[in-house]
Amino acid sequence: MQAEIISVGTELLLGRIVNTNAKYIAAKLADIGIESRYQTTIGDNLEHIKEAMAIANQRNDLIIVSGGLGPTQDDMTKQAVAEFLNTKLMLDKVQLERIKRRFDERGRNFVESNIKQAQYLNGSEILPNYHGLALGDFYRNDNGADIILLPGPPTEMEPMMNELILSVIKNYHLKYRLISKVMKFYGISESQLMSELSDLVGNSGRVSIASYAKKHEIWLRLTILDNDSDDAQIEIDAVKLKIAKRYPDFYYSDNIDETLAMVVVKLLKAKNKAITAAESLTAGMFQSTIASVPGASNVFSGGFVTYSNQVKTQMLNIPSLIIKQNGVVSEQVATSMAENAKVIMNADIGISFTGVAGPDSLEGNPVGTVWIGLAGLGMTVAQKLQFASTDSRTAIREKSVLEALRMLWI
Ligand code: ATP
Ligand code: MG
Repeated sequence: MQAEIISVGTELLLGRIVNTNAKYIAAKLADIGIESRYQTTIGDNLEHIKEAMAIANQRNDLIIVSGGLGPTQDDMTKQAVAEFLNTKLMLDKVQLERIKRRFDERGRNFVESNIKQAQYLNGSEILPNYHGLALGDFYRNDNGADIILLPGPPTEMEPMMNELILSVIKNYHLKYRLISKVMKFYGISESQLMSELSDLVGNSGRVSIASYAKKHEIWLRLTILDNDSDDAQIEIDAVKLKIAKRYPDFYYSDNIDETLAMVVVKLLKAKNKAITAAESLTAGMFQSTIASVPGASNVFSGGFVTYSNQVKTQMLNIPSLIIKQNGVVSEQVATSMAENAKVIMNADIGISFTGVAGPDSLEGNPVGTVWIGLAGLGMTVAQKLQFASTDSRTAIREKSVLEALRMLWI
């Protein structure tokens, strides 16, 4: 089963808007194992739309068109497709009444060109549009590719596409399905991971391995094109296990929705450990990240934001002498912060952050120098991180939080 996505709109060709519709539709099709083999973008031009339909019809089983269903003169998708199919446009009277009523309610005179929005291709199924006035259309074509027409505005198109997946498209007899599994890694670069996996890439039977660089982490997607999902699942799981075994310190989840923070909260909860934090450069970001996980209250009851040296002394009893002797960005201050936070909050684990987020260096430490302290589980340690000085303040703070989560996890 292969599909073509046609996006209609001169705005797209002029680069005035980004074609998010094609991305959305392609992802939805991929999810259910339909290969979108082509994406075509054309302007609001009757002949060009007809031409694109003719080409797409020859090389696909399904064509999904978005855009040009509206009332204005440049909206001519339905007209073009009708001419291409050599069929008539029919009028849905119920929808026409609905549109007229809408005009009434707003105290405006009905404009004739709005009739277009109530039209459908002869012999097609109407696709209701609950977020706009233009009807969508599903045309089963015995002599070529099936055709789906969707409106251009994403707020209308997206719910209609979802509805279609649940109803019409799902019932296609797919020759194969794309079965895939995601593996999420933190703390390893994409190039390192892929070069170390080169023995498996292209050499894992039917399983293909692709990498995706996400924000601060790497995802692998293991995929099989298959018609028997049970077998495929077993094959994918075997490759997944091989990779997971190689990277116990970096591979953290195979669930797209599970973050590193969720994994850590789950772990702490399983071990029945309470955590607290004392944060300087991250100023609450770590605690906010923990608190964003549902069920965080099982392991987290509070902590400290101690940005200035004075507040570190006031709230955490860090002797000013220690700060003076070692500097605030130091192993000694990081470990004292973690230990004292843990004692004051009566927690099992204390985490601390002190460092230079920039833009200026501090006490001779370059931007990106960070110490993370960890007190608990019978030990106190501190880890020094040196991020690139070109990293933004936000990136340095975010990565510090992630590194702390990683220390808690491994
Ligand atoms: P309308 O009734 O609003 O005219 P329509 O079905 O005729 O809807 P278009 O006129 O093609 O659709 O596009 C309307 C608006 O929808 C565009 O101005 C744009 O904001 C958005 N849009 C259209 N196509 C896309 C696309 N491929 N990706 C993202 N946005 C799109
Ligand atoms: Mg329009």
